[in-house]
Amino acid sequence: MIPQTDPQAGAAVKAADRAHVFHSWSAQELIDPLAVAGAEGSYFWDYDGNRYLDFTSGLVFTNIGYQHPKVVAAIQEQAATLATFAPAFAVEARSEAARLIARRTPGDLDKIFFTNGGADAVEHAVRMARLHTGRPKVLSAYRSYHGGTQQAVNITGDPRRWASDSGAAGVVHFWAPFLYRSRFYAETEQQECERALEHLETTIAFEGPGTIAAIVLETIPGTAGIMVPPRDYLAGVRELCDKHGIVFVLDEVMAGFGRTGAWFAAELFDVVPDLMTFAKGVNSGYVPLGGVAISPRIAETFGRRPYPGGLTYSGHPLACAAAVATLEVMAEEGVVANAAVIGAQVIEPGLRALAERHPSVGEVRGVGMFWALELVRNRETREPLVPYNATGEANAPMAAFAAAAKAHGLWPFINMNRTHVVPPCTITEAEAKEGLAALDAALSVADEYTV
Ligand code: PLP
Repeated sequence: MIPQTDPQAGAAVKAADRAHVFHSWSAQELIDPLAVAGAEGSYFWDYDGNRYLDFTSGLVFTNIGYQHPKVVAAIQEQAATLATFAPAFAVEARSEAARLIARRTPGDLDKIFFTNGGADAVEHAVRMARLHTGRPKVLSAYRSYHGGTQQAVNITGDPRRWASDSGAAGVVHFWAPFLYRSRFYAETEQQECERALEHLETTIAFEGPGTIAAIVLETIPGTAGIMVPPRDYLAGVRELCDKHGIVFVLDEVMAGFGRTGAWFAAELFDVVPDLMTFAKGVNSGYVPLGGVAISPRIAETFGRRPYPGGLTYSGHPLACAAAVATLEVMAEEGVVANAAVIGAQVIEPGLRALAERHPSVGEVRGVGMFWALELVRNRETREPLVPYNATGEANAPMAAFAAAAKAHGLWPFINMNRTHVVPPCTITEAEAKEGLAALDAALSVADEYTV
């Protein structure tokens, strides 16, 4: 459905936004947010009648698309029955959400601590690990994103943490696998896996194994570029954690709940962490919700000793009712299998064909509904199409690429020199093909900047 155009209403929304909304991660005077009038399924539209196929899933969270009627109805029903209730009570929506999530999480992760989103899930996972081990340090990867709050942004390994690095005590970064940009050290996935594990082992030795509470990794790093790790890497990290009594935290905030064509990406690598963070896809982002799935070993630490942490809205009934409905929709509609099948049969071959045709595509990587195109100025040198964190003129090639995609009805996900292909896991074959055609046109514009 697309409502009638109403440019005046759009202008009013935009004016109030510009006057009063302070946007995240942005220079307030340099942004021009689109006024959105509505959304349904894989599409959203503005007040001028422009409709976009959403290859971003919002911020990679609308795994079942926008406005799924069953989830909307569940939220409405919960609001009419018990709109809110404090976290210390047993409430049906919360108990049921925890039960359904625990049924899907890998291995023995079957206690659920609810948060409001991903960053606070990471904060709590780290606190649990520190209290469980009595150790101070946390190791995490460069090229990672774990959230925007103080501790989570420091655990994050991208340049955005620089602004608050003073809070980084006890956080040590290491280099996880990324063959495309490790080519001077490794030529094959296997070599890159060995390099990365050896480097991690050395880092642990030099930091002092007895000082390290946790290793925190995204199962497949998302925001930083969707780098699917070599098959054996995470099992190797699991071994190092076991050897040194370190808590293994997998962050599945972005990769979880169907995104990779599995319920959780950990399944693709046959690993079970001690703690696993989630958010986003748990209820497709309809109401803020995140959490930590906890193994019995760590839950026991807080069996007779209080866990010192909580949130007013932990396990909010509206968010949990949305999660219950989302998990039911995912099971009933085969959403996880759809992500795997459309990913393997349409998106992957489509992107590989684009890479053949367009010199601006340096690498295609991903799985399921979780793909990245690394855009380069030159395929031989692998020089990124724009420098990291480029703004203004320096970012012109990515800006031109994005404008061309939008002109062809596609809303692209852009991060540095990459475009990520992360549509809803419910996408149809026809929609996927429509998006690939728009990408084809936009890449022709990117090609003009190659040398
Ligand atoms: N962890 C990962 C892997 C993420 O991708 C994100 C957000 O993109 C977060 C944590 C932070 O989640 P939130 O923005 O809900 O706090």
